[in-house]
Amino acid sequence: MLRAERDADLMFSNLSRPSAEQTESQPHGLHCGMCGGLFYVDDETIGRVRSAIERGLSENPFCCEDCEAAYEDEEQEH
Ligand SMILES: [Zn+2]
Repeated sequence: MLRAERDADLMFSNLSRPSAEQTESQPHGLHCGMCGGLFYVDDETIGRVRSAIERGLSENPFCCEDCEAAYEDEEQEH
C-alpha cells in the first residue's frame, strides 16, 4: 500500500461513524471505496473526503465500518 493511502485512511479514524440512513447530522451520501455501499456522513467527514480527493491522496478514501474492520483484521495477520 502506498503511504499516501495509509495517511488518508488514518484521517478518518476519529470521525463519527457513517450511518446507513440519512439523518439531520449526517446528510451527505457517500459510497464506500471498498464495497460500494451507500452511507451517510456528517459535514466534517464529507469535507475531509473531498479534500483528500482534491489533493490526490485517493480516488475515494471513504471506507465503511465493515470494510474498515475487515481491513484491520487483514493487517494484523501480516
Ligand atoms: Zn464498505
